[in-house]
Amino acid sequence: MTDVNKVALVTGGSRGIGKACALELAKAGYDVVINYAGNEEAANKTVDEIKALGQKAAAKKFDVSNKEAAEAAIAEIVNEFGRIDVLVNNAGITRDNLFMRMKDEEWLAVINTNLNSAYFVTNPVSKIMIKQRSGAIVNMASVSGVYGNAGQANYSAAKAGMIGFTKALAKELASRNIRVNAVAPGFIQTDMTKDLPVDKIVERIPLKTLGQPEDIAKTVKFLAADATYITGQVIGVDGGLVI
Ligand code: NAP
Repeated sequence: MTDVNKVALVTGGSRGIGKACALELAKAGYDVVINYAGNEEAANKTVDEIKALGQKAAAKKFDVSNKEAAEAAIAEIVNEFGRIDVLVNNAGITRDNLFMRMKDEEWLAVINTNLNSAYFVTNPVSKIMIKQRSGAIVNMASVSGVYGNAGQANYSAAKAGMIGFTKALAKELASRNIRVNAVAPGFIQTDMTKDLPVDKIVERIPLKTLGQPEDIAKTVKFLAADATYITGQVIGVDGGLVI
């Protein structure tokens, strides 16, 4: 293992894609801190699975859309783990509705949780990485942020924002040896997509299947740990949905 004692923070790491990222980074030798919103049972299970891989692990419950909570949690993590080498801005929600029917709460919840969160979390973490003079940030975008999706004006706006954020930050932080990239998943089998009409969706996917959280996690681990000359990129992991 090459990365022993390096520390990764994965937001929304209790379930789904974030959990798979946490486990993949643990397999690569990172100690891993996961963040979650409320599902303590799932968070504790993920922590146990990381520890079973031989890495240190902790779960931090905080709302990524709350600036003060994020700042306090990051200070606590640095206190306990000493550093943060990898940040995966993954926590996210959907509140789908046609734009004409969209309520203010639906718009604001998605923008706050999926986009403003990246600012609130990355702000304190980037200061730590700048001091370390190294780091890698991976932002979870979506195909919806690349091509837009009817019924998801809020989500598409947040994910497109994530892509712009990734590119601007990559330019700003490159001189400090910090790389910033994004992954744009297609349809991945998690709680978020469990109520979608799978058969109809699969028809549109060239590879004719939904993706698995591990498909995203492998790409996140590649961008975080292996892709030493890649920054500012958005990697589609979508079975060919956006070509
Ligand atoms: P998921 O299974 O619904 O899991 C969401 C995770 O985010 C959970 O760990 C949840 O914590 C956490 N979370 C939600 N709101 C939070 C908040 N305010 N503060 C802190 N944590 C919060 O979702 P997923 O499918 O794995 O999606 C993960 C990311 O990938 C999201 O950014 C999503 O937009 C993106 N994505 C997913 C797909 C897909 O097809 N699934 C496609 C494209 C992009 P609790 O367990 O405590 O609730």
